[in-house]
Amino acid sequence: MPRSTKIVATLGPASSDEETLGRLIAAGVDVVRLNFSHGSAADHIARARMVRSIAAAHNRAVAILADLQGPKIRVGKFAEGRVTLEKGATFILDADCELGHAETVGIDYKELPHDVKVGDVLLLDDGKIVLAVDRVQGNRVFTTVRVGGVLSNNKGINKQGGGLTAPPLTTKDIEDINTSVMLGADYLAVSFPKSGADMYMARELMRARGGKSLLIAKIERAEAIPALEEILKASDGIMVARGDLAVEVGDAAVPALQKHMIRMAREMNKLTITATQMMESMIASPIPTRAEVSDVANAVLDGTDAVMLSAESASGKYPVEAVEAMHRICVEADRGMDADVRLDQEFMNRVFTRADQAIAMAALFTAHHLKVKAIVALTQSGSTALWMSRLNSGVPIYALTPEEGTYSKLALFRDTRVFLMAQESHDRERVLADAQAFLLAQGVVAKGDLIVLTIGEPIGKAGGTNTLKIVRVGES
Ligand code: PGA
Ligand code: MN
Repeated sequence: MPRSTKIVATLGPASSDEETLGRLIAAGVDVVRLNFSHGSAADHIARARMVRSIAAAHNRAVAILADLQGPKIRVGKFAEGRVTLEKGATFILDADCELGHAETVGIDYKELPHDVKVGDVLLLDDGKIVLAVDRVQGNRVFTTVRVGGVLSNNKGINKQGGGLTAPPLTTKDIEDINTSVMLGADYLAVSFPKSGADMYMARELMRARGGKSLLIAKIERAEAIPALEEILKASDGIMVARGDLAVEVGDAAVPALQKHMIRMAREMNKLTITATQMMESMIASPIPTRAEVSDVANAVLDGTDAVMLSAESASGKYPVEAVEAMHRICVEADRGMDADVRLDQEFMNRVFTRADQAIAMAALFTAHHLKVKAIVALTQSGSTALWMSRLNSGVPIYALTPEEGTYSKLALFRDTRVFLMAQESHDRERVLADAQAFLLAQGVVAKGDLIVLTIGEPIGKAGGTNTLKIVRVGES
């Protein structure tokens, strides 16, 4: 059963052996996420190599997403590894504290005392612990525990409403960008960006190292919401990073924001990944809850390119089952999407200025009206397939590319199935005939099917799509 929405799975201790990774990819993982918040550069490089070799063995396009830790603000370590905070107690965050105990803990972000003021609310460990700021004295922030609980080493700190000024890329992030380039990441995700400038900085650093990754901005800060358009412009896609976002803006604000973000991204021809706690109960259970099933399906109906697994696949007990469940839910939800098409109206509102984009839109419009079996994009850079996949026409898009880099990147695009096809000739008619023969051999079209093909001339030039052809397979 074909699936339009793609699946991202995070690797971790539960999924980094060859056998499990093979089963994850066989079960439908399209994008593997390497989480740079954990593990060494050598771990990530070894994992990336394994992903490439398993994907090749399975003849599958699989993208690698390198996800930077970013300036996550964390408490330091405790002498005992953890403490229990009681409601009403005083608790001090102290930039100079080495090893924490019941009343005080260190902070890795030394500027925190300058960024908070009396009355601010700090949320620790994804909001499980709530502290109210009473006063700031030198390098120490005095707080009262509003909601207590167990606080262990290195848990994250967020400020309700946002406003922490940590720099966008840490020294570790800059080293990790180098590692991501070394391992040939298809996507680079930047954590906690606040502005377009943060994304430009990451892109500059990545490019300077010779990287070719597409850039994903993780929207997880309150400040990123008003800056969304500017961040989208500076990025190739966004992640709806619901874990941290919910802490900063309040959990109840997230569902509507998710819809807004996905709509805006698609209108701006950008990619989207919906992330965090999608199958949370499957960390410990072989089946998802009804609410999780609905959450995944709703993300599909919102138009996300991909749904993501975090701890479910990285450290949970049922990584393969979680992918299988997502696959099953996406297939069903994808089918429910056709009813939503308001394509004609959306076409009218679409703004485009490039010839290749005009061809992509024309192919989609034609496919929708002629009810063709498939749209076939012969693409070098993949941009034709990107534009086509930003509107839901209900017609599958097959992207054929001779470029390895394009092949793996397109694994993330919704509605798109990508194949690696060598370019034997520079003669248009020959290439179009080869493409049809290839798709026939793959069993995705049948003789006599009406299809729309797009191609660029001269053949082989990136961004050169300028031709649209409507054919019956095998008849021209
Ligand atoms: P993280 O990002 O898992 O790296 O924190 C995703 C999120 O915050 O939802
Ligand atoms: Mn996050």
